[in-house]
Amino acid sequence: MYFMNIQTFDYNNSDQEKFDLEHVWHPYTSLTNPLPTYEIVRAEGCCLELADGTRLVDGMSSWWACIHGYNVAKLNEAVSQQIEKMSHVMFGGIRHENATGLAKRLIDITPESLQYVFFADSGSVAVEVSLKMALQYFSGRISTKKRFLALRGGYHGDTFGAMSVTDPVGSMHSIYSDFLTQNYFISRPSCRFYDPWDPACCDELYSVLKEHHEEIAGVILEPVVQGAGGMYFYHPEFLRRVRAYCDYFNVLFIADEIATGFGRTGKMFACNWAGVEPDIMTVGKALTGGYMTLSAVLCNRKVMEGICTGKAGVLMHGPTFMGNPLATRVACASVDLLLSFDWKSSVRTIESWLKKYLLPLSTYNWVKETRVLGSIGVVELKTPVDMAALQKSFVKSGVWIRPFGRLIYLMLPYIINEEQVRLLCTAIEKVLIEKD
Ligand SMILES: *Cc1c(COP(=O)(O)O)cnc(C)c1O
Repeated sequence: MYFMNIQTFDYNNSDQEKFDLEHVWHPYTSLTNPLPTYEIVRAEGCCLELADGTRLVDGMSSWWACIHGYNVAKLNEAVSQQIEKMSHVMFGGIRHENATGLAKRLIDITPESLQYVFFADSGSVAVEVSLKMALQYFSGRISTKKRFLALRGGYHGDTFGAMSVTDPVGSMHSIYSDFLTQNYFISRPSCRFYDPWDPACCDELYSVLKEHHEEIAGVILEPVVQGAGGMYFYHPEFLRRVRAYCDYFNVLFIADEIATGFGRTGKMFACNWAGVEPDIMTVGKALTGGYMTLSAVLCNRKVMEGICTGKAGVLMHGPTFMGNPLATRVACASVDLLLSFDWKSSVRTIESWLKKYLLPLSTYNWVKETRVLGSIGVVELKTPVDMAALQKSFVKSGVWIRPFGRLIYLMLPYIINEEQVRLLCTAIEKVLIEKD
C-alpha cells in the first residue's frame, strides 16, 4: 500500500503544491494555516527561476548565504570534482586536504589570535559549540561561571543553547521557559552605527558584568549588525568596550559572525570595524557561498589551552558530518573566489546603489526609517507587513524579497548590478506607494 501511494503520486505542479502545503513544514509556519510558497526550479547569477519560467531578481542571497549568486562556475566545479573523489568520510582519526585547507584559510582571514578551528554543521550548532567552549574553559577552574550575557534583539539560532542567548521576546522564550537556561540580557547599544560615539551606552554592560561576572562565562553578540532580531546597526566602539570589560572581569568574548562574515558589512568580518579580536568566533551562512550547510568555530590559544587542560581535557563535541569533504571543498573555493576579486569595492559600490535607491524611501508614511550598511539595505516600517500579500506583489514586480515583521530588507549578492538593485528598490517603493 505504502509503495503504491508513492508510485501513484502524480507530480504535476498543483498536486505538488497541495502536498507541500499539507505535509511540509516551512520556516516558522503553520500547517493548518500555511502561507503560500513559490516553486523555484533553477537559480543562476542573481536570479531565481519560477516553474513557469519567470525570473526573479534575488534580494535575499538566500538568507545571507549566496554571496556570489547562484550556479557559480567555480563552485560548481569544486563540488563536481570533489564528488568524484569522496562525498563524505568520517573526521575521527581521518584528515583531508579540504578541511585542513579551509582551516588554514579561516585562520588567515579572521583576526590574528584565532588559530584553532572546529567544524560544525550549521550556524546554530556552531553557537552551541561556542557556548560549550566557554563553559568547558571555566569548568574545573571557576565553577560558578555557567551563564552568558547577551544583547536584547540578538539572534543566535534555533537550538536550545542558541535560543537561550537569543532575544527572549523575539524567540519566544516563554514557549520553552522550563527548558531554557536563564541568561543575562542587556539592551542593545543605543548608539547607532552612524552616530557619534556615546560611552553611556556601555553603562548597562558594565554594571551587569560588575555585579554578575562570577556567574558569567561569556558575552555573546553579533558584532555591529544584529540580523534576524531586527537588522539593527550599532556603533563598533561598543565592541572595544566589550573586549576591555571581558578582559577585566575574566569573561570570554564570543563574536557570532554567522551573518556578518565574509564581507557582508563592507569588512571581511564585522569585528574588523573595531579592530577587536574575540576569544571565540562563529562563522557559517556564506562560508560555502551558500552551496550547503557548514559552520566553523574559531578560538584563540587561551581558550584552546583552557579546554585541553580543563576537567574533560577534550572538546566534547563531534558531529557525524564534521569536516564534510564536499562542504569544506566548496567553502575553500568560495573563500578563494571572494579573495580573487576586489570584493571590498564591490560591496562599497552596492552600498552606494542602496544609498541612491533605497535610503530615499524613508519619505513614505509607512516607513519609520531606512538604513544601509555594506550590501545590507533595510526599510523599517511603522507597522508589521502582511507577508503573503507583499511577497505576491514583489513576485509580480519580478523580484524575490522576503519581509518579516516590520522589516523589508535586502542582502544582496556581491555580483548584483545597478539595474537589478534599482529594480528591487522600485518593487519596494511600489508597495509603499500602494500603502500610502
Ligand atoms: C542564521 C544565524 C544563526 C543560525 O544559523 P543556522 O545555520 O540557521 O543554524 C546563528 N547566528 C546568527 C548571527 C545568524 O544570523
